[in-house]
Amino acid sequence: MKTRRNLMLEEMGLTPVWQLRRDPTEAPISVDAAIEESSPAVEEAPVTGHRSPVTDAADRRTTIMRMEWPGLKEAVASCTSCTLHAKRNKTVFGVGDENADWLFVGEGPGADEDAQGEPFVGQAGKLLDSMLAAIRLKRSENVYIANVVKCRPPGNRNPEQGEALACEPYLNRQIDLIRPKLIVALGKVAAANLLATDASVASMRGRVHQYRGTALIVTYHPAYLLRSLQDKAKAWADLCFAVRTMRGLAKRGERPT
Ligand code: URA
Ligand code: SF4
Repeated sequence: MKTRRNLMLEEMGLTPVWQLRRDPTEAPISVDAAIEESSPAVEEAPVTGHRSPVTDAADRRTTIMRMEWPGLKEAVASCTSCTLHAKRNKTVFGVGDENADWLFVGEGPGADEDAQGEPFVGQAGKLLDSMLAAIRLKRSENVYIANVVKCRPPGNRNPEQGEALACEPYLNRQIDLIRPKLIVALGKVAAANLLATDASVASMRGRVHQYRGTALIVTYHPAYLLRSLQDKAKAWADLCFAVRTMRGLAKRGERPT
């Protein structure tokens, strides 16, 4: 009989890798036990954010930070604030539950996303959906998915710092409107921009960081996992850690203040 853990791992495409790495004499463990296995080392990182000295940029930021959902969506759809607007087909605003506890943040749209106007709809998106399913989440329910930049960098290059900075107020406003309990940064580019660091994913995973007062954890980008099978098991561990962190945050939120 398949354990629930095995079904989850199968759903994420993790089964062979995971099984090779476990001691065969060990009894199978449940998803809940796997989630409990590692205790999070909570690190209160300093609140980070970029400051623009340019008054225009500051004004633009202030305007964006006052927008409600409809205005914010319109602003992104017609945005020309960085050079990425020139070659895009569609802006990719973000998708999901606007009151979600979970926010997953990727890097920027690829070709499929640029064509469809929705984040993570290509191959990497399929894996992201499987990763969500493995922790019993769906992109439309209690999850919001967004990117650091809303327009596709040509040839899928990494967004440049200026582009990410220009786009940052939109993501910040999305975060303020959603008020997620936990942000999951997918891959180095997302983590680097959100935490203003050049650190590797390997060094950032397994800890709770903070982004403007919201808990944030880092894991591998699904596009990277498609190429690097051995790290899929680590991504699974990160998801367990994320669930465990979320449980802790939810408990904290339940307490009367
Ligand atoms: N990769 C990302 O980082 N974001 C997407 O939306 C699609 C692929
Ligand atoms: Fe505007 Fe962001 Fe698109 Fe640049 S990437 S044009 S800042 S929406």
